[in-house]
Amino acid sequence: MQTLSLRAKLMSFSLAADGTVDVMYLEDGVLICTDGRIDALMPAANYTADGGDLDACEDLRPCFICPGFVDTHLHMPQLGIIASYSPQLLDWLDRFAFPAEQAFADSAFAAEQAQHFLDRVIASGTTCAQVFTTVHEHACEHLFAAAQSLDMAMIAGKVMMDRHAPAPLTQEPQACARACEGLINKWHDKGRLRYALTPRFAITSSEEQLALCGELLQSHPSVMLQTHLSENHEEIGEVARLFPQADDYLDVYERFGLNVSSATFAHGIHLSASERLRIVAAGAKVAFCPSSNLFLGSGLFDLAAMPMDNLSIASDVGGGTGLSMLDTCAEGYKVGQARGHQMHPTEAFYAITAGNAKSLGLADEIGQLQQGYSADLVVLNPTKPQGLAERYAICEDLTDALFAFMMLSDDRSIERCYIAGKLAYSASAQ
Ligand SMILES: [Zn+2]
Repeated sequence: MQTLSLRAKLMSFSLAADGTVDVMYLEDGVLICTDGRIDALMPAANYTADGGDLDACEDLRPCFICPGFVDTHLHMPQLGIIASYSPQLLDWLDRFAFPAEQAFADSAFAAEQAQHFLDRVIASGTTCAQVFTTVHEHACEHLFAAAQSLDMAMIAGKVMMDRHAPAPLTQEPQACARACEGLINKWHDKGRLRYALTPRFAITSSEEQLALCGELLQSHPSVMLQTHLSENHEEIGEVARLFPQADDYLDVYERFGLNVSSATFAHGIHLSASERLRIVAAGAKVAFCPSSNLFLGSGLFDLAAMPMDNLSIASDVGGGTGLSMLDTCAEGYKVGQARGHQMHPTEAFYAITAGNAKSLGLADEIGQLQQGYSADLVVLNPTKPQGLAERYAICEDLTDALFAFMMLSDDRSIERCYIAGKLAYSASAQ
């Protein structure tokens, strides 16, 4: 039996019935985890009163422990092309994303990059992610294998493309579908791993490929779906040209049975009212990717127009400019401000923990400090970097502190990460 006993400030976020965020906060708390799961949490004073020995707990104060962050949309092969200078999405894909993805044809390189990617993700405080790999089966396999060795909750898929991309990144639809099925059979629902069918976007898949994707989803109903939707005006125009029979962009996916509750549509910036209603009716989710949307000039997402239950927030690395979910919230806050919608700090912390977990169908497994939940934890240090330390020193309450973390933290604020109760990252070990 493996037991972890930690003393720190403990915080966790959930959604109340009226749609507001409930905060669980223990200023001086003890968290006990056994065999990878949260066993108990209580105020330190209660722990002592119940006969517990505080000296046997590792004292992490003044750090905060909260559920590990969840990122619902990012691209493994694009870590190295963050901050590539380009006017907009389609140019950026051609000049940077596609060449970077072609390098993953080399299996040894892909294996090394998969491990490096996971190391970087975890060092940023993220303990669960939904990831695009590349068209290459081995790239997806390497990522799953690396996540499996950490017992990490990971959703990933091999990219499906059969047109409008460099030839080495395309695959004949039937062969691609067979490859996806092989990956599903090998990895889906193995431990904490799940498979997501991953057509890149409507431009790079023919009708035949989208139809095969829909068939795979029907024959494997617990498999997830991830793709892009309505990110950029030029992209939307191209989709309309390629699919003249479709009423709108979402209709392209709907025609092939891809607007489903397990779907994450990245971006959704320029959706019509009708498209939003149809996403809500299907129970699908839109991933708001603020740093990517700002970086690529794609547009300002309307946070108020989408119900929280159909919304997640994501880094979208490498269109996004960093892996940090706290920084993603800071960018989201600024987008909200520009559109007259103020994102409250507790909403932001809910979004990157329990909210994103729920959007990936993992609400009962991760995202909260609660007995029985997986001990996927991030330890946040309010004394690093200097700017955060100075702001934190004059914070008057938890909301103030959360906002300071959201706006001023960086990688140095991530003190530790635990995955299934095991130490997966420690700043002091770097
Ligand atoms: Zn993306």
